[in-house]
This record gives sequence, C-alpha cells and structure tokens, in this order.
Amino acid sequence: LLQLYMPLNFLGFVYRQIKQSLTDMERMFSLLDVEKEVEDKAGAKSLACDAATVRFEDVHFSYNPDRKILKGVSFEVPAGKTVAVVGPSGAGKSTLTRLMFRFYDVSGGKITIDGQDIRDVTQNSLRREIGIVPQDTVLFNDTIAYNISYGRPGSEQGEIENVAKLASIDGFIAGLPDGFKTMVGERGLKLSGGEKQRVSIARMLLKRPKIMIFDEATSALDTRTEKDIQQALREVSRGHTTLIIAHRLSTVIDADKIIVLRDGQVAERGRHQELLDRDGLYAEMWAQQQEIRQAEEILAHAGEIP
Ligand code: ATP
Repeated sequence: LLQLYMPLNFLGFVYRQIKQSLTDMERMFSLLDVEKEVEDKAGAKSLACDAATVRFEDVHFSYNPDRKILKGVSFEVPAGKTVAVVGPSGAGKSTLTRLMFRFYDVSGGKITIDGQDIRDVTQNSLRREIGIVPQDTVLFNDTIAYNISYGRPGSEQGEIENVAKLASIDGFIAGLPDGFKTMVGERGLKLSGGEKQRVSIARMLLKRPKIMIFDEATSALDTRTEKDIQQALREVSRGHTTLIIAHRLSTVIDADKIIVLRDGQVAERGRHQELLDRDGLYAEMWAQQQEIRQAEEILAHAGEIP
C-alpha cells in the first residue's frame, strides 16, 4: 500500500505545483494588463521644453476602475519655481509624479509641459527633461562614484566630486575606506535612506534636467540628515521647475506654492503663512508635526541624561 501511496502522493505534489504555476502565470498576465506600458502615439514629436512650465488640468486617474484616486486636480508649477504637495497618506501625492513621468496615462483632463500634452510627445524626450529623486533609491553593486555618475554616464571625476559636494554627501564619502571607490549596494556598504537620497540628488545634479521631482522619504530621518537633504535640495532646485512631494512640513516652508491634497482633490493652496492663517487642514497638519517634533526632542534629551 505504501508503494502505491508514494507515487500517488508525488503525483498530487506535481499536480499542485503545476496548478500553482498556472495561477501564478494568470496573475502575472493580469498584472501585466493592469500595468500595461504606456505607448508613444503614432508620429509623436519630441518635447520642446523651453521655460518648463508644468500644468495639471482637471486630472482624473484610477489604477483600477472601481476606485478613483485623483478627482479633478488642477495646479501649475511655473517655470523655475518650486511647488510642494502635501496631504494625508494615500491622498494621491506620489501618483502625481508617476503620471508626470508617464508610468500611467491620465484617465481624464491633461498634463502639459510648456503647453504640450505629455501624451503627444515621445516618452524618451519627456523623461530626458525630468529628473526624479524617488523615495527609495536603488543602488547598483558598484562604487559610489559609479552610482553617482549613472546620472550622466561618462562624467569626469571632477564633476562627480562637485555634485557630491552640492548634494552634501562629500563629507560622508571622505570618511569611507576607499572614498569614491568604495563599493556600495547589497553586496557592498549599505547606505542609510538619507545617504541614498543624497546619492540620488547628486545623480540628478549630473543629469541637470529642466524639471525636477523630489519624492521625500516617508521614513524618519534624524534632524541633521533632514537639514542636509533640505539644504542640498535648495541648491539643486534653484532656477529649476521643481515639484516636491513632502512628508515633512519643514521641507515646504520656502516653497513658492503649497498644494494640499486630500482624497484625490486639492483641498487648499497657498504659501506656508497663508495656509497657517487659513486654519484648515494644513494648519492642523502643521500643529500635529510640531507636537511630534517636540516629543522627539524631549526623548532625545532624555537619552542624554546619564
Ligand atoms: P503616502 O503619503 O503614504 O506616500 P500618497 O499620497 O503618495 O501616500 P499614492 O502613493 O499616490 O499616495 O497612492 C494613492 C492611492 O493609490 C493609495 O490608496 C494607494 O493604495 C493606491 N495605489 C498606489 N499605487 C497603486 C497601484 N499600483 N495599484 C493600485 N493602487 C495603487
């Protein structure tokens, strides 16, 4: 009986494996279907990016038909200015950056750059003009110099050192065992979230795109790192059209305009002080963050007491 049972059991195992694989394949195809690549229109032209004014005009978007994420969002990022988007988690902030880079197309309304609908231009020409510092930067298993030069392959060492300085990561690199030749990534030295973001800022500086998108990390950074990154960002974004997705309100105090997104709609807009005076959602978020900050400071001081 045991002899009969074994092969049957084995067959059962094989059957389950095959069934699982088919299910996986089905899932893979349905995922591919959802995340279908955006395609260039026939005869799409190159983006003519001059001053680089970005406009979201009544933008609607859903990842899945049953749930609307953006419900008529309109705002402008004027040429050379910095606009910050804030709002509760899940409001649709990062979705705005994915639409600008055309990972997805809008389901209603349009996004234009210098008056051109981004669906009418080639993706290559669009992505050439946009630089993104994502929340999570992927590092290659290579030297830190290589990881920075990825922004513009073939850059000279002098240029790499220069952007590292502007991104406030030069001091950190100087302290590494092999300086710029230190291996980083999964198989090398692991960098913290803040260090990785600064590598990403340095990359963007080498690329020198007209439009910059900065998706601030949600994870908590120590105050010093936060200040360094904000300083680097100010240097980098000067004179560039910049969209910042901000999680820390301290990042947005200097922004030319703040867009407060709530549940896929613009709830408030204005400069920092105007929004505080309005005493609405932004003022509430600000008060909350101040309380967290004070609590953190008290805890930090408590740690210093022997
Ligand atoms: P956070 O501050 O937490 O980063 P956010 O405002 O940036 O949030 P988004 O990342 O834009 O929020 O996501 C908006 C909504 O869209 C969320 O509810 C999220 O679950 C959903 N969403 C995001 N990406 C996808 C996706 N690829 N497929 C389906 N839903 C998604």
